[in-house]
Amino acid sequence: MIIVGNGNLVTLGADRRVISGGAVAVEDGLIVEVGATRDLQAKHKGADLLDAAGAVIMPGLINIHAHGYGAFARGLAIPGEPPRTFPQILQSLWWKLDRALTLEDVYVSASLGFVDSLKNGTTTIFDHHASPNAIAGSLDEEARAAGEVGLRACLCYEVSDRDGPEPAAAGIEENVRFIRSLVGRGLAGRAGGARRPGLLAGCMGLHASLTLSDDTLGRAVEEAGKLGVGCHLHVAEGPEDGADSVARYGKSVVKRLADLGVLGPRSIAAHCVHVDQDDIDVLARTRTVVAHNAQSNMSNAVGVAPALAMVHSGVRVGLGTDGFTTDMFEAATSTNIVHKLAGRDPSVGWEEGQRMTLGTNAEVATEFFGGRLGALAPGYGADLIIVDYDPYTPLGEDNFWGHMLFGMRGGQVRHAVVDGRVVMRDRRVLGLDEARLRARARELSEKVWERFAGM
Ligand SMILES: [Zn+2]
Repeated sequence: MIIVGNGNLVTLGADRRVISGGAVAVEDGLIVEVGATRDLQAKHKGADLLDAAGAVIMPGLINIHAHGYGAFARGLAIPGEPPRTFPQILQSLWWKLDRALTLEDVYVSASLGFVDSLKNGTTTIFDHHASPNAIAGSLDEEARAAGEVGLRACLCYEVSDRDGPEPAAAGIEENVRFIRSLVGRGLAGRAGGARRPGLLAGCMGLHASLTLSDDTLGRAVEEAGKLGVGCHLHVAEGPEDGADSVARYGKSVVKRLADLGVLGPRSIAAHCVHVDQDDIDVLARTRTVVAHNAQSNMSNAVGVAPALAMVHSGVRVGLGTDGFTTDMFEAATSTNIVHKLAGRDPSVGWEEGQRMTLGTNAEVATEFFGGRLGALAPGYGADLIIVDYDPYTPLGEDNFWGHMLFGMRGGQVRHAVVDGRVVMRDRRVLGLDEARLRARARELSEKVWERFAGM
């Protein structure tokens, strides 16, 4: 047993409390007790103490849409004229970068993304992966990276027809193979069942409507159905996705996907920027999870997703980063302000952003990994972070969100515990040699950039 104590304990969850001098007792991957540090130490003599030294102890953050494979894009120059549209960004950067990746690149870039995520306080990540010239086994490489870094990961391979029929079929096969292997390893995070959440989960990854034929989508949905999983894909991110769907299929992206059985309570639709009220009603009715990625949408200049309208219409909207950042504190702050600017109304977005970041993300993680995640309470998975934040104004149950948005950032996260195991201590990730990983990444990224330049 370990006790994480001597901190400002922020429980979140249904029974929100802030306990000064608080502690959690952890055993077999689960939180068994929450209370005053001295009480828990008196009761559980001999338990190891992870001393928060007055810092904030809170649930680890959850990111429901990320791309570990994008790590080598950092500092990469795009040749030629700067892209002016979202499809140009895809064609001149992402679809060339992903084709340049080998299996080792996949492992190293995913490791870097996971390390940065953990250091910024994320303990559960939903990754969406593409490497068309290294498909088979790519999800195993990502799973190995997640295991070494020590965070929970829901993985999928991005099926697309953009590189031809063989990679599309291989992508479906990679998802199926990986998800089956989870069942074999007893790690599949299925809802219900085990009290201890799984460390790995999987779903059927899909790129987006504009690069997927009805035939490919039909096959992917059929396989996902057999495995009891949903799909994770980009939906109406730029205006072109919708225009393509209307031109070729005579309906909106959301309606096309709903008709083909892609949507549902186990599916994650990232972005949904260009959706109308009819689409929003379909997303609500199918209980599809929408991943809102405010900063990425700003950077790609695709527009501001109607995330608040979706929340008000009953859509389950959670928060992702789309690989733009690995800091969910930063993502939450951007989400809080972008809707105020877009609506010219400073009164909006506060509650909705909180609900996405701390509420819906926890519910989604719980559904995908099993057990319970996202709060510090008995029976919950023991995923928590210790954040060096010493508030200079009162901190309580009702104003934690304000402290989180304006006082806390990923760089203040000092220790992290996942599944009851200390995976980061004093900002050192314990499961791998970070300096060696970075050195190897510099060698590999140079070669990736050379291949990229030759495309
Ligand atoms: Zn994405």
